[in-house]
Amino acid sequence: MDNKKVVTIVYGCQMSERDAETLTQITRDFGYSPSDDLESADLVIVNTCCVRESAENKILGKIGELKKLKERNPKVKIAISGCMVQQPGALERLQKRAPHVDIWEGTHNINDFSALLQRVEQGEKVAEVWQEPNATIEVASLAEKGKLQASVNVMYGCDNFCSYCIVPYVRGRERSRKPQEILQEIELLVNSGCREVTLLGQNVNSYGKEFSPAYDFADLLHQVNQIAFLLRVRFITSHPKDLSDKLIETVAEGDKLCEHFHLPIQSGSNFILERMNRKYTREYYLRRIEQIRKLIPDASLSTDIIVGFPGESEEDFEQTLAMMNQAHYSQAFTFMYSKRSGTLASKMENQIPLDVKKRRLQKLMSVQNQESLEYRQNMIGKTVEVLAEGPSKTNPERLTGRTRGNELVVFNGNLDIIGSLVNVRINEAGSWTLIGEIE
Ligand code: SAM
Ligand code: SF4
Repeated sequence: MDNKKVVTIVYGCQMSERDAETLTQITRDFGYSPSDDLESADLVIVNTCCVRESAENKILGKIGELKKLKERNPKVKIAISGCMVQQPGALERLQKRAPHVDIWEGTHNINDFSALLQRVEQGEKVAEVWQEPNATIEVASLAEKGKLQASVNVMYGCDNFCSYCIVPYVRGRERSRKPQEILQEIELLVNSGCREVTLLGQNVNSYGKEFSPAYDFADLLHQVNQIAFLLRVRFITSHPKDLSDKLIETVAEGDKLCEHFHLPIQSGSNFILERMNRKYTREYYLRRIEQIRKLIPDASLSTDIIVGFPGESEEDFEQTLAMMNQAHYSQAFTFMYSKRSGTLASKMENQIPLDVKKRRLQKLMSVQNQESLEYRQNMIGKTVEVLAEGPSKTNPERLTGRTRGNELVVFNGNLDIIGSLVNVRINEAGSWTLIGEIE
């Protein structure tokens, strides 16, 4: 039967979104087309996250809702994939809780989804969680063609074992894709209309550390910058401990390389940074920022911060707040520490009570909101380069796009400029967006 509908629901980071895109693409070979309507869906895929308990609770709620959907429509197939399923011992627990699910799949076999879907289409229920990644299967992953913006994996996994983080346990050890594969994938995307790529890795700064002869992330960026008709290149995430001068210089020189660094600090206290196993101090971090600003005065910086890590005192927290006023982030993703079983921090003493974590998070967010507003207000009167992405959702008469620093801009313009770079003069700074006019 053709014309079947698949609804894909994603939780978590850009890697999770990228995996979900692969899953949706695979379903096309089985005659599915993407849809947002659960009631008429033939297949529902939920790609999961387990980085914090709050994400897991939301996903468990969604799996519960899907049980009711299956009662109304017993023909609908349900697939649950990704990080939550890959956690050691999770599959059995989840299967018991949700017998209505047809496909369970971990992170390492995402690209092998067609084999599972085939069996389910023949009436089976399947559960497969590989303990190790498979290099041949991994390279099969290609970003979806025909879109203006695409994310491309440059590496998988993580070797850093920050003491709070579950990622190394569910995504495996670090492994870099070969430069030729990445460059070829980007060229294919560009030929199909893509103009902006975001290169993805848990720590792109350690890309290629296993390569001989030496070839690092700066070398890759340098080559990506030369791809014809590509307009912009972004990358995430940069671990501060591995941010080299060479990388900063490469970004400074490459005309397509956006001057935006997502540089998670996690905490402003050296005591907490050490307990987190982040392997840098606040002084080192500040020196890295100084170097970025020296070579690229207009660079924007964003960050991730965790409050309420075990043992975090009021003084430690004050140091994090002080960091916000020193670093002047354009944006910060702020989280309450969440205990993840199997990680080192989950066994640490002095876990912080929820009410204290909530209070600290509120305070941190209000300091950052002010910083973000000031960052945007400083842009009023300036002319900035924007990639026109499409009609604004809130005001379809106008267009939206992003600055090189990743700020959202709403501006006037015709649909025919979508996909090109335009110069926009910023007139207003709202809470989350900039408003401007094409020059
Ligand atoms: N590899 C990236 C990095 O090092 O920044 C991103 C990894 S993680 C998906 C994104 C963010 O989630 C982290 O930077 C951290 O701030 C946050 N995070 C990870 N584990 C957490 C935990 N147990 N509790 C609260 N936040 C957590
Ligand atoms: Fe998690 Fe740290 Fe690896 Fe980022 S670098 S994925 S926070 S362990």
